[in-house]
Parts: sequence; C-alpha cells; structure tokens
Amino acid sequence: MKLTNKLNVLVIACIAMVFTGCQKDEIKTVEEELLEIEQQEPTKLQCHHHLNGDTKAATWSRYASHGDAKNVKYFIASSVSSAWSTATVKAAKAWSNSTNGIKMTRTFSKSSANLVIKEGPDPGWDSSPAVAEFPESNGKIGDEIRLNSTYVNPGNAALTTTTRYYIMTHEMGHVFGFQHNNVMSFMKYNFTDADDTWGGMNATDKREIRTQFPN
Ligand SMILES: [Zn+2]
Repeated sequence: MKLTNKLNVLVIACIAMVFTGCQKDEIKTVEEELLEIEQQEPTKLQCHHHLNGDTKAATWSRYASHGDAKNVKYFIASSVSSAWSTATVKAAKAWSNSTNGIKMTRTFSKSSANLVIKEGPDPGWDSSPAVAEFPESNGKIGDEIRLNSTYVNPGNAALTTTTRYYIMTHEMGHVFGFQHNNVMSFMKYNFTDADDTWGGMNATDKREIRTQFPN
C-alpha cells in the first residue's frame, strides 16, 4: 500500500474518532489494520510513470522505435547529485552494451538531448525513488527520468551505489518501453534492500532486450 493510502486511512480514522467519541476499541482496530498492512507489504520502493501536470506517455502504448533507441542522447541536469550521476552513466553503458539496437550517449547540451535526467521533490510519493516516461505514440523514447529528492529513507530500502544503479537501469527500461515484469532482473514493480546484491544485467535480461531491440 502506498504511503498516501496509509495517510488516507489515518485521516479517515481520525475523522471517525471525532464522530464516535474516541472509543478505544475502534482506535485499536485501526492500529491493527495498519500493522496488518505493514506485515503484508514490507519495505519496498515503487515507481510510477507520469509526471505532475504532464500527460505525455502517462500510460504504455509501445516500445521505442528502433531508430530512436539507437540514438539516445541523455543529459544529466545540474540538480542531479554525483551519486545519481555516477549511477546514470553506468546504467547507460549497460544498456548500450546489452544490444547493438541501443546506443546511449551522454550530451552536455540540454538542447541536443532526447532524454533528460533531473532530481527534485515528488510530493506524495515519498516511497518512490524515481519516475520515468514511457515512449510516445510516435516511437520517441520517454524523454524524462526524475529522481525524487524527497524519497524517505530510512523507512524504505536504502539507496546505495548498487541500488541506485539498479533503479536507474530500471527507469531507463521504462523510457525504452519495458513494463514491470518478473522475467527481467531489474524490472520488478518493487524492490528491497536485498537488491543491493544485484549483479547487473544477466543473460535473460539481454535476451528480453534483444527481442525488442535486435542485436
Ligand atoms: Zn518502474
């Protein structure tokens, strides 16, 4: 359950308390419910695919065109921390090495970029470390990955050198059109501290990538 949903439960609970005279039994029920939610869904991260006030590519329509996938020019904005910048460069190299059908090159000129990496607050999504755009209907790659500067940690899985690399590889997957799945090692909907042991793209990952973007 998303943090916002939990807060909604709390708000509803507080309103209910006002109208029922704060009966202890009911308070306990809510606490038990919240505990149950925590137990069902342990610490995890979530990512979503639309940006505030931006309706472009909010839902999946297609994979990126082969032409666009071979010509990705990514720009890392000055708002991005050095730790995330390092993860971005490493993930871009991994994607470029996964198939001849994908080539990602860093550009230091924003106007020449077709993918911009930014970092900033993402209100209401404290448990999500990043957000990415899917490709547009004309085949253009998703044009933005935004890292959440207000991601709450502790309370969620830790951001480490490896989990940042994992997250950035995942978000780049979305800009090429990959949706969440449990076949690829880095496209799961959730991930946990255990993913700090992720070893990079494996043979299955590359096979899946080459299905869409031939080598
Ligand atoms: Zn995702």
